[in-house]
Amino acid sequence: MERKEFRELTPVEDARKLVSRIKVLPGIEYTHVGNATGRILAEDVLSGVDVPAFNRSVKDGYALRAKDTYKATEPEPVVLRLTASIPAGCADRFFVNDGETIEISTGAPIPEGADAVIMVEQTKQTEDTVYIYQPVHIAENIMRAGSDIMKGERVLRKNTRIGSREIGVLASIGKMEVPVKKLLVGIISTGDELIEPGKELKPGKIFDANSYAIAANVEECGAIPRMYGIVPDEGKLMEEALDRAINECNIVLTSGSTSAGIGDIMYRIIEDKGETLTHGIAIKPGKPVVIGMINGVPTIGLPGNPTSALSIFNEFVAPIIYNSLGVAPSFKAKVSAVMGTGIRSGGREELFPVGLVRGRVYPADKTSGAITTLADADGIIEIKAQTEYIEAGSPVEVTMFGNARSPDIMFVGGQCLGVDLLEDMTGKMIRTLNMGSSAGFTAIAGGTTDIAGVNMPDAEGKYNLPVIMKMGLTGVVLVKGYRRKLGLIFRPGTEVAELGDLPGKRLINRNRGSGTRAILDMEIGRLAAEKSIPRAELTKTIEGYNSGSKTHRSVCDAIKSGRADVGFGLKAAAEEAGLAFIPVTEDEFDFVIRKDVMDAPEIKSLLSALSSHEFSERLPAGFHTYERTGEIISPSGI
Ligand code: AMP
Ligand code: MG
Repeated sequence: MERKEFRELTPVEDARKLVSRIKVLPGIEYTHVGNATGRILAEDVLSGVDVPAFNRSVKDGYALRAKDTYKATEPEPVVLRLTASIPAGCADRFFVNDGETIEISTGAPIPEGADAVIMVEQTKQTEDTVYIYQPVHIAENIMRAGSDIMKGERVLRKNTRIGSREIGVLASIGKMEVPVKKLLVGIISTGDELIEPGKELKPGKIFDANSYAIAANVEECGAIPRMYGIVPDEGKLMEEALDRAINECNIVLTSGSTSAGIGDIMYRIIEDKGETLTHGIAIKPGKPVVIGMINGVPTIGLPGNPTSALSIFNEFVAPIIYNSLGVAPSFKAKVSAVMGTGIRSGGREELFPVGLVRGRVYPADKTSGAITTLADADGIIEIKAQTEYIEAGSPVEVTMFGNARSPDIMFVGGQCLGVDLLEDMTGKMIRTLNMGSSAGFTAIAGGTTDIAGVNMPDAEGKYNLPVIMKMGLTGVVLVKGYRRKLGLIFRPGTEVAELGDLPGKRLINRNRGSGTRAILDMEIGRLAAEKSIPRAELTKTIEGYNSGSKTHRSVCDAIKSGRADVGFGLKAAAEEAGLAFIPVTEDEFDFVIRKDVMDAPEIKSLLSALSSHEFSERLPAGFHTYERTGEIISPSGI
């Protein structure tokens, strides 16, 4: 099959212009107020009633004739006769004469004859006599009928996005059926490798993230997603799904199969059925995007990679939806911040996902293809094609993804249940990127994290400090954490008693760069020395030695599911997973923290939690604090 090459990519500005001209006409439907959140009003809403519908009191007090109070003073109160009491919601008729008053609650209707309400605090009541200590003027503490909303008044404009305030208004005028725009957006995921989330995950398959993520995005824009499910990489089936969606929807989105790989045929189908407006935009991530038109229905082929799909959606699909709905893209807040680290770019315009932590911007790009790139990002920064490098400290604008709370603390390093506990205890939101100790050291060296969580031994089995010294890290401190029992993890019944039993078993190892892997290597080295054979000789006999699972939990998953026989990791993780555990050694899990954040309240609160009695009490099985917990070492001083 001939492969498509992206020789001529459309410049971003041209692609933006192109989509700004695409617009479809939505329908109208009536929806119940309870389902109207996020929808766009299709018509002006006029009130059929006055709000309030009657004159009502805005205070607890006494309804009276204002002129009766004019002479009232503190030493010489006016005396009025109490004749009745009106609670809120009362429909009975009452009348106030000269010299009389009626007790009234907030929200209750003003009795006839009365023209003011005096607050209860400015009065004193004894049986049926009320003493008035201050004058009130006419209309005081009375809300007139229709003064909030008048019958016939336009309360909401067409094209308004319906949120909580709009719903409050609609409910307060009793309007339960709301006219909203109906813009149907069809969503098709393509790929032989995809499985419906919730079903069993088979080997080689991945869950279809795009259908749901794109549907949520469509809803956030005020349109209605309609999912057509997963279609295998087969031309005929893709065509069928596309035909159906184009028949039923105003806009159709597909994901996957847009690049130049084998079986990537979506762009051909769009080309055959309609007109291709552009294929390939000069933007990172996600250049393989097709924008086409089939029977007047804008059809956009998004890249399969979830992060790319969502970025491209935000940039080139959302504007089409907003245009069509007649709304401004209002909720993309921009925040000014400074780069927490330098980033390199160049060549193409980039929509760079970033995390925003306490006003500082960090790159949030893991490997492309990771959905967590977006989940761990708070927004994007736009980098122009000609920009090669943005220096740490430069001001940037972050276009936020939504109203999500941005995290208090950045953490990169080894996965640790103790860190989960610190997060629970402090109530701080810690963004943890569990990538192993080496990644933690690299991130702290590059200034892209506040804290690195590390358990990396040197050849002598000394933890963490030697690595800091070797890397020549400055501007950081080492805070000693806690000790953790590490050992062999396996299904109960598996014949494993010691490290020497590893040969012949299928091992699920941790990722290269994780401290736990380094510790296992150290132990294997010790064993090899005992047997007087080279270490490599020994590891050769261990199947799966080269595997690399990123977290303790995923190691346990591999063993539970039978993909591996044995792993090396935390006792706590083994217990959590219901697996057997034989202890081998203990490590030291420590925190490398940037000096310039040590005084931040978030970090202080974390450190005080670390040193607390509660923390050591609540640590999971196999974890314990010791005399060095909380000790702060400043490497430059050594
Ligand atoms: P494609 O554009 O079809 O070459 O897909 C690019 C990458 O995205 C591949 O690794 C796919 O497995 C992945 N991918 C495609 N569709 C989805 C989806 N719906 N959810 C999650 N990942 C996907
Ligand atoms: Mg594909």
